[in-house]
Amino acid sequence: MSETNDENRHLLTISELKREIALLEESHLEKERAVSALQDSEKRYRRLFESAKDGILILDADTGKVVDVNPFLLQLLGYAYDAICGQYIWELGVFKDIAASREAFKTLQHNEYIRYDDLPLETLDGRPIAVEFVSNVYVVDYSKVIQCNIRDITGRKKADAERKRLMAAIEQVGDAIVMTDAQGTIQYVNPAFERTTGYTSVEVVGLNPRILQSGRLDESFYRNLWDTISDGRIWAGIMVNKRKDGNLYSEETTISPIRDSSGRIVNYVAVQRDITEHLHLTAQLQQAQKMEAVGLLAGGVAHDYNNMLSVILGYTELALGKVDRTESLHADLEEIYKAAIRSTEITRQLLAFARKQVINPVVLNLNQNVQSMLKMLQRLIGEDITLAWQPEVGLYPIKMDPAQIDQLLANLCVNARDAITDVGRVIIETKNVIIDETYCIHNIGFEPGEYALLTVSDDGCGMDKETLGHIFEPFFTTKGMGKGTGLGLSTVHGIVKQNNGFINVYSEPGNGTTFKIYLPWYAGQTIEVQPEDIEEIPLSRGETVLVVEDEPLLLKMDKKMLEDLGYRVLAAGAPSEAIDLAKAHAGQIRLLITDVVMPEMNGRDLAERLQALYPDMKILFMSGYTATVIAHRGVLDEGVNFIQKPFSFKGLGIKVRDSLRGT
Ligand code: ADP
Ligand code: MG
Repeated sequence: MSETNDENRHLLTISELKREIALLEESHLEKERAVSALQDSEKRYRRLFESAKDGILILDADTGKVVDVNPFLLQLLGYAYDAICGQYIWELGVFKDIAASREAFKTLQHNEYIRYDDLPLETLDGRPIAVEFVSNVYVVDYSKVIQCNIRDITGRKKADAERKRLMAAIEQVGDAIVMTDAQGTIQYVNPAFERTTGYTSVEVVGLNPRILQSGRLDESFYRNLWDTISDGRIWAGIMVNKRKDGNLYSEETTISPIRDSSGRIVNYVAVQRDITEHLHLTAQLQQAQKMEAVGLLAGGVAHDYNNMLSVILGYTELALGKVDRTESLHADLEEIYKAAIRSTEITRQLLAFARKQVINPVVLNLNQNVQSMLKMLQRLIGEDITLAWQPEVGLYPIKMDPAQIDQLLANLCVNARDAITDVGRVIIETKNVIIDETYCIHNIGFEPGEYALLTVSDDGCGMDKETLGHIFEPFFTTKGMGKGTGLGLSTVHGIVKQNNGFINVYSEPGNGTTFKIYLPWYAGQTIEVQPEDIEEIPLSRGETVLVVEDEPLLLKMDKKMLEDLGYRVLAAGAPSEAIDLAKAHAGQIRLLITDVVMPEMNGRDLAERLQALYPDMKILFMSGYTATVIAHRGVLDEGVNFIQKPFSFKGLGIKVRDSLRGT
């Protein structure tokens, strides 16, 4: 039974068999379906792999061999499929940066995920490209693979770099740049804008550029600007704007409308250059040129005028000697003489302004000179004005004609006195200062170096800008008729320039005035100067002198003066005549007195020619100015005898005697 049962166990009914078969078929179909589904999915992924717009590289994670690579990557790198597939990754030159060796490959092997944002690769033909590289390790069908996704970012990087370059240019350019939207609201300002205006980007973005308006320009100005740019045209002009700190500045501005591809205005860009400093320097230069031109004019006039004054003075002096004091003519002549003397003071100042004053500079300590002037200055400014004196200890020595320091101080103190109504204070100070390069860049006419600074300050009425612009011009005065000549500060200016120094003035209406005079440091010894006082008019012992002067009236007068002094006089109206006279003369000629500037030949050359004939002959130069001819900038060479026109009878007597003695 059991056997039967057993056998029965193996016997299946037909229906059971059928079911069995159906099940089998079913499972087979399922398998097939699964296989086909797998195939489908594989195909689908394959297609993705093949058509991906990123490079994909599959590596065997154990060996490092390339298992697969997609066409995009092949195309990107320029390799053929076979050149890559089956190769060890470190043997592929192109990947040298990520897997140059088996060792380096381990990094990929042992990290589930690696990412390089910007990896430089080189294509087969040597073209550098930049890629983003991501690797993932995972298991497929019991084997580990590394999938590397490689994205070409060369184009994006280029665009980035381009944008960065443009940005850097805009950020670093010296001109201020402002971008607004079409309504005029600020969207961007560059650092130069922040520097010129004092506003930070955060403060102004979202605002209207109106915040910079100075109030100096009227409404129509801004209306015209806005009309121009909103009409699509470029506006250019100069604007006066206001910084955050309230100071005004001038800028050259160009505003351009920016359109999008449809032609609509979407932005405005303003490029602005701060020209405040430029305008300031231009004004300084114009002022300097004006002074130069006025100086030339004044110098020329003063020179001719001086010659005529010499004649007037000389003859008046001679005439005075011949008329008895009791006669009324004597008093009349004296009046002429006094007026002429006063006039010489004006020409002297004009010559000083024109830097044509002949000077005898010596090395000195400014402190000593000021000190010795104090009493006189106090008398000049009167008792109601206090005079304070603050000398610098160890002041740099300077080289200058002491008489010019007296002129400077006297002029500045008189002006200070005139500026003070009742009581007040004048302070004179000295200081050592160093002027650096930067200062000179912003101040035309200044030279870097070490200077002795002489400051004269007062607490008087001060000056407005308009007055300040003219004070150094000759004959500019704000004082009433007969009160001011307008020559004080032009004299000061000329003296300072002649000594290679410079002046600064600080003044505000109602707040007093400070004049700062910078005189160049002289690296030498200080010498004491002893003023000479000679009372008597030295007379001649009958020596022969040769006088040369191209102005006939002056020559005649010089001759007469010299004869009255007792000299024997040879007079020549021109250098050639002088040479002829000298050749023809039989005896000695002890002294040549010659003008410096003459048409044919200058006095110095004439002197050389004549000294060849008369080696022992002494020389005395005379001139209204000497400037370039007798010496550089009117500064006398050491040991040269010189007499400034106009000269007095006595003055000539002393000079001629000194020259003959050889002092
Ligand atoms: P003057 O004194 O004969 O007028 P200056 O050349 O000395 O001529 O001065 C010119 C002008 O400069 C003066 O008329 C005056 O307006 C102005 N000025 C000069 N110094 C001062 C000062 N310390 N304070 C105020 N104004 C001054
Ligand atoms: Mg004056």
